[in-house]
Amino acid sequence: MRIAVPAETQGAETRVAATPETVRKFKGLGAEIVVETGAGKASGILDADYEAAGATIAKTAAEALAGANIVLKVRRPGESEIAGLPAGALVIATMDPYGNEAQVEALAKANVAAFAMEFMPRITRAQVMDVLSSQANLAGYRAVIDGAAEYGRALPMMMTAAGTVPAAKIFVMGVGVAGLQAIATARRLGAIVTATDVRPATKEQVESLGAKFLAVEDEEFKQAQTAGGYAKEMSKEYQAKQAELTASHIAKQDIVITTALIPGRPAPKLISAAMVESMKPGSVIVDLAVERGGNCELAKPGEVVVTPNGVKIVGHLNVPGRLAATSSALYAKNLYAFVETLIDKAEKKLAVNWDDELVKATALTKDGAVIHPNFAPKA
Ligand code: NAD
Repeated sequence: MRIAVPAETQGAETRVAATPETVRKFKGLGAEIVVETGAGKASGILDADYEAAGATIAKTAAEALAGANIVLKVRRPGESEIAGLPAGALVIATMDPYGNEAQVEALAKANVAAFAMEFMPRITRAQVMDVLSSQANLAGYRAVIDGAAEYGRALPMMMTAAGTVPAAKIFVMGVGVAGLQAIATARRLGAIVTATDVRPATKEQVESLGAKFLAVEDEEFKQAQTAGGYAKEMSKEYQAKQAELTASHIAKQDIVITTALIPGRPAPKLISAAMVESMKPGSVIVDLAVERGGNCELAKPGEVVVTPNGVKIVGHLNVPGRLAATSSALYAKNLYAFVETLIDKAEKKLAVNWDDELVKATALTKDGAVIHPNFAPKA
């Protein structure tokens, strides 16, 4: 059983799909691991570290991939990489398949079994494989660090001989995994934190972290959580009430961190240009939803926009990749936990149970066809 870890090919990607720790674990399962040279460099992992853990270093992606049964990646293989994938291999990555149906088809044509880690069901057994959570948690943390770095003042209240520094006010919009970590991080740094969400369950979570909850708690709010635990897209009327409630609050904030997402939909627009204009010079907005269209009307992907009234709007891409070493460590462990379920440990060989709910939820392609119900051709 041979596992390949090619280097990521998308410029912005700093993470890597295996670490020396997971290499050791894979060796324990009887696998042979081949890592492309330099694959871990942006995560602070040297070829020598992989070698010390028992991996072989390949000089090129082609060399790493030759004869692989499993290919581990952070991002979906691009066009140039697909050609090099060995037929029949399992390719495990975040596949970002929505809007990329042609690429999913290309993976099917390459006759590989492609697995989308982001489709892992959010059930207890799969928590250890939940890449959305492991990466969103770090993004939430990093959003506060990025916001604090752009903010020209201190976050905690300080009583000094030279005078008192007031605590910064931080408002977190969207309290999923990223938002909860943002609240916790902002609290640890001494800020006064408020937060909002449309799911009622978040109220108690916000308060348990020592922050204050703010939301329009009407009948629609009570029904806003889907059975899957996600938010519904709210009505125009609700959005208007929400905007009215948050507008005066945002005007008083020093840092606003937005993380609001709705599965399969563009990110809800929560901060209008007028709200940005109402903020004080030097205040900061960090928009974690920028890759999905942004929660702030003025956010630009990959940029820090400075508005005429001196508000900074931070739109970094791949925020988990800004903490590459930690993100890679957790992502690699998520992958290991999943791969472990695909292996017969006694026989030390691949044994995929295609009826397992984790496999059914994540498998996009198999035997030359797109098999995932959301992407397979309709009969
Ligand atoms: P997400 O990234 O899809 O969305 C982020 C947050 O934005 C959510 O809390 C959502 O309610 C909120 N949001 C959407 N529209 C909004 C609006 N108009 N205004 C304000 N907020 C808005 O969410 P996520 O982090 O993936 O978490 C989704 C759910 O999954 C949560 O209930 C979380 O607790 C749950 N979860 C469960 C498990 C598990 O059981 N294994 C693991 C992770 C997350």
